[in-house]
Amino acid sequence: MGLLETFYNIRDYNNYAKEPYQLKKHEAVEVVAALERQIPKKAFIEAEGEKTISGFCPMCENDLVYIKTERPRYVSYCPQCGQKIDWRGTSA
Ligand SMILES: [Zn+2]
Repeated sequence: MGLLETFYNIRDYNNYAKEPYQLKKHEAVEVVAALERQIPKKAFIEAEGEKTISGFCPMCENDLVYIKTERPRYVSYCPQCGQKIDWRGTSA
């Protein structure tokens, strides 16, 4: 069962059942991991150029790029593992 199904089970169960939903252990592990991915972690910076910063996700090592334009373009979450990325502290 995936994380989304777990969330839907909790929501539906709590809407319709009298007793709160009892998380199974593997569900609790998934939920905690998902919450932990919401805690921002700094990207590992490999190279910084005039227009881009390239680095990778601290959790899964997926490549990440920060583009320094007037309106900077970057991912707030790693598209591969869902880790929230903190770009602060780079000279972006
Ligand atoms: Zn990642």
